[in-house]
Amino acid sequence: MATCVQLCTGARMPLVGLGTWKSPAGQVKAAVMAAIDAGYRHFDCACVYQNESEIGEGIQQKIKEGAVKREDLFIVSKLWSTFHEKHLVKGACQKTLADLKLDYLDLYLMHWPLGFKAGEELFPADDKGMAIPSNTDFLDTWEAMEELVDCGLVKAIGVSNFNHEQIERILNKPGLKHKPANIQSKDPEIECNPYLTQEKLVNYCQSQGIAVTAYSPLGSPDRAWAKPEDPALLDDPKIKEIAVKHNKSTAQVLLRFQIQRNVIVIPKSVTPQRIVENFQVFDFKLTKEEMATIFSFNRNWRVYTMSMGKTHKDYPFNAEY
Ligand code: NAP
Repeated sequence: MATCVQLCTGARMPLVGLGTWKSPAGQVKAAVMAAIDAGYRHFDCACVYQNESEIGEGIQQKIKEGAVKREDLFIVSKLWSTFHEKHLVKGACQKTLADLKLDYLDLYLMHWPLGFKAGEELFPADDKGMAIPSNTDFLDTWEAMEELVDCGLVKAIGVSNFNHEQIERILNKPGLKHKPANIQSKDPEIECNPYLTQEKLVNYCQSQGIAVTAYSPLGSPDRAWAKPEDPALLDDPKIKEIAVKHNKSTAQVLLRFQIQRNVIVIPKSVTPQRIVENFQVFDFKLTKEEMATIFSFNRNWRVYTMSMGKTHKDYPFNAEY
């Protein structure tokens, strides 16, 4: 099967990338280098993960070694919510580029439709713990992101954590210059793990020519707020059964499930053998029945709800999808 998805810009985005949220300093550089050695060419980064500088070191070292060229790589980063004011967008992108030690990004996503008060605080909150919004409209932020394409800092732009109405607002924006090439997120959500297969949003986006990326494809077991009663995707007995049949791990089955429906995955790991394992998903195929079994797991369970944004005018997760 193909190992890339073609974006509406014509660029090819690898179906498997390395996630980097929660990848700690002191480990993420080695993880990036191990991933390049294992064949990864796509890296999912974000300013808010606060590790882009070290990721950049790993990438640079591999380029210097001659293991890869910049043009072989597909580097994604995301505009954080405190930089939604139009005049802040270019500087935020330039800071990410400086940290990553790159002169362009392959894809720059608006991390959330939620604009937060600008300033030092990445999560500005009021005394009730709710996000302090900025007085911005994500359509204006989008315009500033379009300028990044026009000036060559980024090859493509997209969104993350948008619901379908919010995507439609961008698509219907008068004078739209660049449409979203990719969406990464969850529903209403497109948190594309099998417990939230988000058929409607995936179908909607793919029908609009917007490539879909599933985040937390393994159920994000290292998220700080995991509770013992939460479903554990990696231990699911039905997925284990399918994995045994193919002589693969449950992680590999979960990743294969997504790429087999043309959904890009970005599993995070800092463990060398898991990094290798998560890339070995192109040498087996799930049957129609196995795909249907995994689809049937839709428990409408979300890893991440951004609860501090629930009172924000652009909170994405109240719509049906
Ligand atoms: P994930 O990839 O679903 O799970 C990561 C966890 O699974 C880590 O604890 C990792 O452990 C473990 N793991 C990895 N491979 C494994 C394997 N083969 N077997 C067993 N365990 C394995 O979670 P995620 O980090 O939440 O999501 C992936 C990426 O999506 C993020 O890193 C980030 O880049 C992106 N993301 C984006 C958003 C957004 O708002 N746009 C939100 C969430 C995530 P070790 O690292 O210890 O190996």
